Amino acid sequence: MKKFKTELLIIGAGPSGLGAAIYAARAALDFFVVEKFIAGGQIVVTEFIENYPGFKDDVSGFDLMQSIIEHCKKFNINIHESQSIESMEILRSGRKSKCKFVCRGQDIEVVAGSIIIATGASPRRLYVEGENEFIGNGISFCATCDGALYRDKEVMVIGGGDTAIQEAMFLVKFASKVYIVHRRDELRAVKSLQAKAFAQPKIEFLFDSVVDRFTGGNKLEEVTIKNVKTNEKTVKKIDGVFEYVGIKPNSDFLKGFLKMDEWGFIITDEKMSTSVSGIFAAGDVRVTPLRQVITAVSDGAVAATFADKYLDDLD
Ligand SMILES: Cc1cc2nc3c(=O)[nH]c(=O)nc-3n(C[C@H](O)[C@H](O)[C@H](O)COP(=O)(O)OP(=O)(O)OC[C@H]3O[C@@H](n4cnc5c(N)ncnc54)[C@H](O)[C@@H]3O)c2cc1C
Repeated sequence: MKKFKTELLIIGAGPSGLGAAIYAARAALDFFVVEKFIAGGQIVVTEFIENYPGFKDDVSGFDLMQSIIEHCKKFNINIHESQSIESMEILRSGRKSKCKFVCRGQDIEVVAGSIIIATGASPRRLYVEGENEFIGNGISFCATCDGALYRDKEVMVIGGGDTAIQEAMFLVKFASKVYIVHRRDELRAVKSLQAKAFAQPKIEFLFDSVVDRFTGGNKLEEVTIKNVKTNEKTVKKIDGVFEYVGIKPNSDFLKGFLKMDEWGFIITDEKMSTSVSGIFAAGDVRVTPLRQVITAVSDGAVAATFADKYLDDLD
């Protein structure tokens, strides 16, 4: 078990965690970042980003995060990769100046004066019949990772938001046909993405539709689609399905410790302060009206600024 003591612990090395880290470094705080996998966060699997200021030509999620990681290296920011924080408790309460937090993972224990939770989110699933059976065997959550497996094949994207449409536009590079199944009669994606998708001849939209069940043998073969207005069911032969129906926050390990909304997103104020003084949350894991790289980075900057102020006020 590795044991550390630090002024500030940042949990998660996605855009919000690294945004926080750059601001914490500039504030000369004693801190480090713990990351469950490798630094970068969920955006690293995205083939193109066209809405991050300063990158007028589409930049891949991987390249964008590499440049942020390089920026962190300039400040000698310590990122402990392959370490997950799984529990948190208040070590000593009483006078505010005595309050410390202890965070534990499988082989790490960190005692910190303040914490920024930047653990982001993971894809939400459909939870329909057959889904469990075919995840990794026809059902995927990552077009960049698995899209090339479907060269000249027919695939289906589930969802109608920005991510679904963006990933469908990536899949047309490989697939002969991309169905987009959306439960409403119009897309939620921004208009510029919609225009691109409507102009793409390989894409066919199935509106007012939801997945009823997945079926197949050793791998996924068919998807039963139900029209929500008529209840009519149609079986489509399909080679691969990509699900983009929203996200769920990576906050399970904090249940009961911090105030959250009904879906588990952490409630903060505009300083990113949570219901526990000294603990901040930033990015996709918190209740926020927009979950994007730009807002995650910005949340991180705000959280680090106020974590610094919190620690200063303890002196
Ligand atoms: C397919 C796709 C396309 C997207 N396209 C765009 C786009 O074009 N433009 C845009 O602005 N945004 C886009 N987004 C949204 C963007 O990726 C997120 O808003 C952003 O990554 C949120 O950053 P974050 O740091 O809050 O969380 P994340 O990126 O999720 O990073 C959280 C990090 O915390 C780590 N972690 C989780 N739990 C723990 C734990 N217990 N201990 C330690 N570490 C932990 C995770 O491994 C992860 O690295 C897209 C998202 C997806 C999935």
